[in-house]
Amino acid sequence: MTEPSDLSSIPLPKAARLSKSKFLSGLQCHKRLYLEVHEPSLATKPDAATQAMFDMGTEVGELARSRFPGGVLVAAGYRQSEAALDQTAALIQDLTVPAIFEGAFLHRGVLVRADVLERVQTAEGQFCGWRLIEVKSSTRVKDVHLEDLAVQSEVILGTGLTLVSIGLMHINTGYLYRGGAIDLMELFSIQDLSEAVAQRRAEVPARLAEMSRMLLQAQSPAIEPDQHCHTPYDCPFWEHCTKDKPARWIHYLPGSKQVASQMTQQGVTTIDEIPAGTKLSPIQRRVKENVEWVSAKLGPVLKAVQYPVHHLDFETVMLAVPRFSETRPYQALPVQWSNHIEAANGELRHEEFLHKNVSDPRKVLAESLLESLGDRGSICVYSPYERSILEQLAVAIPSLKPALSRIVNRLWDLFPIIRDHYYHPAFSGSYSIKSVLPAMVPSLAYGDLAIQEGGHAASQYYRMVFVETDWIERATIEEALLRYCERDTLAMVELRRALMDKSKMTGETG
Ligand code: SF4
Repeated sequence: MTEPSDLSSIPLPKAARLSKSKFLSGLQCHKRLYLEVHEPSLATKPDAATQAMFDMGTEVGELARSRFPGGVLVAAGYRQSEAALDQTAALIQDLTVPAIFEGAFLHRGVLVRADVLERVQTAEGQFCGWRLIEVKSSTRVKDVHLEDLAVQSEVILGTGLTLVSIGLMHINTGYLYRGGAIDLMELFSIQDLSEAVAQRRAEVPARLAEMSRMLLQAQSPAIEPDQHCHTPYDCPFWEHCTKDKPARWIHYLPGSKQVASQMTQQGVTTIDEIPAGTKLSPIQRRVKENVEWVSAKLGPVLKAVQYPVHHLDFETVMLAVPRFSETRPYQALPVQWSNHIEAANGELRHEEFLHKNVSDPRKVLAESLLESLGDRGSICVYSPYERSILEQLAVAIPSLKPALSRIVNRLWDLFPIIRDHYYHPAFSGSYSIKSVLPAMVPSLAYGDLAIQEGGHAASQYYRMVFVETDWIERATIEEALLRYCERDTLAMVELRRALMDKSKMTGETG
């Protein structure tokens, strides 16, 4: 059984009242916490894809409550803390309530909301305490979850409640949905973390005291941005903290961050100042040299392609709660493809597909794709992702397996070709198509599109098919999705052409 620590020595001023999320921000970085409390307007707003992840987390939280029949939700919102505290106190007294959702607790200036507090009884039916459960849409226990539960349990115990166990409820990716009602016992795993959380909880009072003292300072702490800014979450003050950094700041060196950390310790602030003889990866070396580079083999490698050249890209969704039979949580489901087909004479044709309703997209998508790809020519892609999606489709649809396997054999990945044979300083060490395209084909970037990256496409697709009811809004999203996927495959066409031009610089075109 877990007992409370003594928080009496902590001088928490009312103005600096902490919450669970503020505590976690403070663990990541004291400056982040300071800015959240004193200068929140300096934060960058979450992008649409991040917002969609929050929304999916909310959906998972609501479904998780169904696993506790008879449980009651504290309806008062996050800004109505006094009402939430009153409602929670009343539910604790009501012995007919088996579980409380979003219960609010305040102890020595720290306010927390608990996802689930379940009343626990002995074998004889006697009430013996509460089980605290945090619900996450993630697929495993992470370090930050232990810290989250540590501060929650510290506060709840401080209010006088007894916690008999502490656990994390998360999505079980091993669950295979076979149609019908979702099996909540299978979809969610609950892991008992009582011991691990107790160890973390011992450190909570001192950390809270340190944070509250820091918050009383007249200025934010002088903390330099570094790796900690991205772990466990990307900090919303990154743009603010890095706005005066040089364009070739050492932190922008790609690959392993070990070199950047070592250099920073030695007082090196830009990539150009890295001393000669420092051990660097091939990509890091190219970024340091900062000059255009073309391999002599680029031409022959490009010429190996077979016409007609197809240029293929998929968009996928990953649903935390599976909706289609024989799928698992977060399984990548293809819902859209684009194909630009280039004939040997340079003529270009575009074909596309977007699954627009709530049915299983896989078979209809695969059939339309096979028709578009035919049986001749290379299929140009820009990552191993398309291969893995095609292999998954072949397993899911046995009748199409031979045809899909033949498609896999025709794949021709442009990504390793660029990575191994060409570099441009404007790549800044990134071979992502979003970095490569504006550098090599400036007239064809993504800036004019309503959707500009895959995470946003996935979240917009989810909205279009599963959430949005307004047909105008649905039509707008549909158009934006089609244009985004089309741009990805046109980008590959233009990149191949631009690379072919570059290969002529070396004289070896095969
Ligand atoms: S960007 Fe980094 S240094 Fe700045 S507040 Fe965030 S975590 Fe701290």
